[in-house]
Amino acid sequence: MSWEVVIGLEIHVQLNTASKLFSGSKLSTGAEPNTQASLVDLGMPGTLPVVNREAVRKAALFGLAINADICRHSVFERKNYFYPDLPKGYQTTQLDKPIVGAGVVEVQLAPKGNEGGEGEKKTVRIHHAHLEEDAGKSLHEDFHGMTGIDLNRAGTPLIEVVTEPDMSNAEEAVAFAKKLHAIVTSIGICDGDMSQGNMRFDVNVSIRKPGEPLGTRTETKNLNSFRFMERAIKLEVERQIDVLEDGGEIVQETRLYNGDTHTARSMRSKEDANDYRYFPCPDLLPVEITDADLDALKAAMPELPGARKERFMADYQLSEYDADLLSGDLATAAFFEGAAKAGNDAKLAANWVMGELAARLNAEEKPITDSPVSAEQLGQLIARLKDGTISSKIAKQVFEACWAGEGDPDVIIEVKGLKQMSDSGELEKIVDDIIANNAPQVEDYRSSDDDKKKKKIGFFVGQAMKATQGKANPQQLNQLLKDKLG
Ligand code: ADP
Ligand code: MG
Repeated sequence: MSWEVVIGLEIHVQLNTASKLFSGSKLSTGAEPNTQASLVDLGMPGTLPVVNREAVRKAALFGLAINADICRHSVFERKNYFYPDLPKGYQTTQLDKPIVGAGVVEVQLAPKGNEGGEGEKKTVRIHHAHLEEDAGKSLHEDFHGMTGIDLNRAGTPLIEVVTEPDMSNAEEAVAFAKKLHAIVTSIGICDGDMSQGNMRFDVNVSIRKPGEPLGTRTETKNLNSFRFMERAIKLEVERQIDVLEDGGEIVQETRLYNGDTHTARSMRSKEDANDYRYFPCPDLLPVEITDADLDALKAAMPELPGARKERFMADYQLSEYDADLLSGDLATAAFFEGAAKAGNDAKLAANWVMGELAARLNAEEKPITDSPVSAEQLGQLIARLKDGTISSKIAKQVFEACWAGEGDPDVIIEVKGLKQMSDSGELEKIVDDIIANNAPQVEDYRSSDDDKKKKKIGFFVGQAMKATQGKANPQQLNQLLKDKLG
């Protein structure tokens, strides 16, 4: 019997408020170390925290987006521990009464293998999500054997989202993570820049034989890219299988993954909640959320990825899988809709955004927001493809030129003389020349049966494309060749 993998995730989502969770200091984006932490963030005697209303609003909005119950009297607790980047000696967080209760996230999985089709759907249950403050940062580089402390991040508002152990392989976990990213960016509560630590994933992994109770899990912390997350999970699954098959035992522990070396190591054995001596924060009142607050939030809810997907399927006749890919990320969705509108063809726009554009962006590791080809330019290219001005082969050439900054597609087509040769007189002359200059191939073609002819016509098409530098209109060329070759 093979092993069954069980995965649950804990995700820190940084809320994009103007100021911190309990103080007026600004959120730090690349500021000089220790210039954006106030006395409140440091928990100095005589200071009192005040809850940031906008952070509460954003956390509750997330709850509504995943159909969760919102706790009407949620309570902040102190989680006590010592660490150099936590000068207060405790983290203000939530334990028993988190602001967001149980909810669900629907995930669309990729089709398996080469079968094509739509791929399965998966429901991942959210156990809860709570509000908490981030700690500062310990900097281990550039200090010659010492550690630097930067407290700018201290007090930054986070929601920690905790899933049930509902995922059963790395691909599912990544698909869920991407969906969560799509939700928090679509509702505008998080900037979603993973390289800046805006979303950080802890993965809990265990294995068991089918039918057995859950196995002992490990937690790999602070994964900040989808790729690292996938690799770290696979590595940990392999390790656990090796340990158990060698007769060993899994130790419940926290592990650290190094993406550069693709290795992981044990960081510490896992502590229990009661080690932290949680207690309700005496400085903060419970956060009250009224019916009116919830109504206002519901009214302000932006379009969610799920609704956008339905709309893309209905309005643009996209397949479910395509609609899912294009609707997830807000920037991709906007780009697609812009190109579809400018080119007046949603299907072509979908194909180009998921195909050529995605490949090009991927190769240069660029986000779609930095695409050198704009949505309007891609739309223009699509329009020229649609009205027969250029062939699909030439379209790729125009795309490349546009990517390289040579101007709008219309300008490129004009300047480079890339218009498709649809004037049959000109094309006819080229075809006549080819037939005259390739007597043996013409002979061979004419003496072949219909099946073979279908293959052999390729030679003449190739010659004509070469002669026209790919500009012959394929339909017209085929017709002309068939007529003339007989
Ligand atoms: P703790 O209180 O120790 O943090 P939780 O019960 O809150 O533990 O679970 C933390 C995370 O670990 C959750 O995402 C949960 O789904 C996941 N998890 C719990 N048990 C397992 C297990 N046996 N295998 C994999 N993941 C698990
Ligand atoms: Mg927990």
